[in-house]
Amino acid sequence: MKNIDQFKGQKILVLGLAKSGYAAAELLHSFGAQVIVNDASPLENNEEAKVLLEQGLTVICGGHPKDLLDESFDLIVKNPGIPYSNPILQQAADMNLPIWTEIELAYRISEAPIIGITGSNGKTTTTTLLYHMLNIGGENPLIAGNIGTVACSVAKEATKEQKIVLEASSFQLMGIDQFRPKIAILTNLYEAHLDYHGDLESYQDAKAQMIKNQLADDYFIYNADQPHVVEIAEHAAAVKVPFSVEGKKMTGISADDLRIYWNGEPFIDRSVIKLPGKHNLENILCAIAAANLLGCKKSAIIDVLSSFTGVKHRMQFVKELNGRKYYNDSKATNTLATKSALTAFDGPVILLAGGLDRGHSFEELRPYMDNVKAVIALGETKERFATFARSCGVEDVKIASSMEEAVQLAQANSVEKDVILLSPASASWDEYPSFEIRGDRFITAVQALD
Ligand code: ADP
Repeated sequence: MKNIDQFKGQKILVLGLAKSGYAAAELLHSFGAQVIVNDASPLENNEEAKVLLEQGLTVICGGHPKDLLDESFDLIVKNPGIPYSNPILQQAADMNLPIWTEIELAYRISEAPIIGITGSNGKTTTTTLLYHMLNIGGENPLIAGNIGTVACSVAKEATKEQKIVLEASSFQLMGIDQFRPKIAILTNLYEAHLDYHGDLESYQDAKAQMIKNQLADDYFIYNADQPHVVEIAEHAAAVKVPFSVEGKKMTGISADDLRIYWNGEPFIDRSVIKLPGKHNLENILCAIAAANLLGCKKSAIIDVLSSFTGVKHRMQFVKELNGRKYYNDSKATNTLATKSALTAFDGPVILLAGGLDRGHSFEELRPYMDNVKAVIALGETKERFATFARSCGVEDVKIASSMEEAVQLAQANSVEKDVILLSPASASWDEYPSFEIRGDRFITAVQALD
């Protein structure tokens, strides 16, 4: 760790707990800061708050009192999910108090350089691929973000010889100050998450935060096929490393139907790749580019490409039964992700879809429904998804009242070579606490088939 003395004696408000707030509060307390924790959920069912209280931190739970802030605070570390419209944050902004998310804290104390990965989709897959490549290549990486541990906890342990592969959401990136990744990756930028950011421009700005502190000896790997991303790259101070899946021969990394090219030269045959889908090819190019820049062995990259079949709940191959292949894409919580999943298969697909009803339209999926031979609709949106599927010309549309029933219906209606795909195009919170638990229910139901 470095620079930890800067926090000694500082009065810091940690706003919002969960895993990241808890880790930040504990760490800052250990640096000798005076930490005050504020969380909306009441103490009696707030395990994290109870532990911090026992450790001697000041804990204020069950709401956000209006008079919490005064001039004596030096810093706020906020949970990324708390919107800036929160009255405490508005007051803090009026007082010119710095407002960080914990990735800024991670950056400040980390001995290891950070490879920061962001984008609307593909963050976790790219992060995981790169981590495995560096790991097999003997580079001793650490992984942080949604699927790993909290960034500041990882940074606490990291040494100079290591690298932190960090998945960062736009919400986290909005709370940075000096955060400067050695390599930044922007996989893509779609109009998702607009309910939080308001409009595409502010979403674009949040993602652009990733590169705002980069200098000429850093690298920016970005999607050259997307004009909104190219616009961001125009302002990059770092060395630009564009990627394209459109077969362009170019500086950076690109792919055509047969090969992957590094600076226009053939690098790896696509036939070694196990992970299905053009969208995953984007993630693969990002990971290879970063691995190359970090001097990772080509054999390690190939090893990963030829063995990696997907992160759990993201187009995860579950099993093959009587010639039918089952895939769990429970992480597809919006239509864009389901669209990517559908484009990954050439043959007939039985699609299990539906979930939390946000009133969102499924229209974006219409051009991709040609391979869908049957639909089993589930969850709160089941009626709406069924109507949509029929309007796309899918004749075999059924409604299921549970995951188990959906899987059984899919099996009963399938023939050899069919793909049975859970890709809900909706969030999971109508019936499940998380998309992971929804995916696990699917896996259990599939494993129970014979
Ligand atoms: P994130 O961490 O950004 O949410 P994941 O790697 O977890 O991304 O993938 C989430 C979903 O998004 C997957 O289920 C997949 O269908 C879709 N997806 C993954 N990578 C891409 C990409 N590069 N472009 C578009 N969609 C993608």
